[in-house]
Amino acid sequence: MQTADVVIAGAGPAGSAAAHALAKAGAEVVMLERAHFPRDKSCGDGVTAHAVDILHDMGVTFESLGPKAIRTFGGRIGAPSGETFVAKPPSYNGAPAECWVVPRLVLDEAIAGAAQSAGAKLVQGAVVSDVVRDASGRCAGLRYDDGSGVQTLAAKVVIGADGAHSSVARSLRVRSAPKRHIGFALRAYYDGVAGLDDLLEIYYYDKRILPGYGWVFPTGGSTANVGVGIYAGELDRSSRKLRDILDEFIATEPNVKDRFRDAKPVGRAIGWPLPVSTLNRQSVFDGAMLCGDAAALVDPLTGEGIWTALVSGRTAAHAALAGLRRNDTSRHALAAHERECRAIVGGYLSSGRLLKNLAKSSTLLDLIVHRAHTNAYYASRAIGYGLGTIDRRRALRSIVLKAVFNPSFFRK
Ligand SMILES: Cc1cc2nc3c(=O)[nH]c(=O)nc-3n(C[C@H](O)[C@H](O)[C@H](O)COP(=O)(O)OP(=O)(O)OC[C@H]3O[C@@H](n4cnc5c(N)ncnc54)[C@H](O)[C@@H]3O)c2cc1C
Repeated sequence: MQTADVVIAGAGPAGSAAAHALAKAGAEVVMLERAHFPRDKSCGDGVTAHAVDILHDMGVTFESLGPKAIRTFGGRIGAPSGETFVAKPPSYNGAPAECWVVPRLVLDEAIAGAAQSAGAKLVQGAVVSDVVRDASGRCAGLRYDDGSGVQTLAAKVVIGADGAHSSVARSLRVRSAPKRHIGFALRAYYDGVAGLDDLLEIYYYDKRILPGYGWVFPTGGSTANVGVGIYAGELDRSSRKLRDILDEFIATEPNVKDRFRDAKPVGRAIGWPLPVSTLNRQSVFDGAMLCGDAAALVDPLTGEGIWTALVSGRTAAHAALAGLRRNDTSRHALAAHERECRAIVGGYLSSGRLLKNLAKSSTLLDLIVHRAHTNAYYASRAIGYGLGTIDRRRALRSIVLKAVFNPSFFRK
């Protein structure tokens, strides 16, 4: 039987970030990935400023991603009223905040490559089915099929980073989330889109799908990544399919429709679930941890999940390294993963949860966008809020204080 210190299911951002940190610290780590790189993943391809920081740290630079990567420096947000504002976020680490749009076809191969350069082993075409348990019931490895038959890889620690349909989570008997904790998003690429700039565009255009929204992210020249994201409850209540909602967004949103008049789809639209972090999913077990989408860590407000995947991959690696050093990989010892992860992303996600509820109100969204349209300071802060360049909890506190002490701010 093959063995390793740590075996990871999935080589997306979460798995590769974990593998990178583990290998860099000298651990023997194997990633089992069902696909072969380069592989696509349904995504807006938006890499926010705080995710860019971690990628830099892993040696994944903008230049290393090649010509398909785009830099963006701000956003345009549209309200249900049709009003919009454009702004750059406040400076970040003393410099203009930089986000990237990188097709996942390119990005994920680069991140997995960084993990391999650090010394991690990647097995492609390996479909993980379940965890292997020892006589005491603790996780002791993964079972997978590499096309030549079922294999087992024994390890002291198992990390489940196998995304929204995680086989590892299922095998650990993590209950699937109720519908109100799941979003769905559909992404398409279009060519021939007019008026693209170095901006991430988000439109809360349809009252019926709030807090869901449509996006247009530039992917170079006149091509764009276009999509819609919606909570499962709203989708159920709608008579429309996600594809109809996307088509309607492109055909009717006042700030979008004319720009798509001559645009043509490239490839087919692909949908995928968004396991949002409104549910505190158990992510630590005896001998095993979950991270990224497998741990349901998507931001409830924006649908952003790459940053939380990278962070949680790293915190799982830190807990695994400490456990390996002390020869204790019990659930109790690995709980450091949850603690460290929560300390980094907890405030961000919990304020995202609150704002996602507020963003169900079209009246409030109209007001916020109107305010931002007429006030550059608030416009910049609102963009920074979404792009991970300002402390969300502090920003939220200042909004609440304003509501209490300066309610006229919220009048049109
Ligand atoms: C339409 C859409 C748009 C989005 N837009 C954005 C955005 O613009 N910015 C952002 O930050 N986030 C966005 N997200 C969220 C983001 O895509 C995810 O949160 C992120 O990919 C999570 O990373 P991960 O590593 O946890 O999982 P994944 O990226 O899903 O990676 C999981 C990996 O595990 C592999 N795998 C799966 N099952 C198995 C198995 N049984 N055995 C072995 N390997 C397996 C998969 O092939 C994959 O490589 C979007 C999501 C959707 C659906």
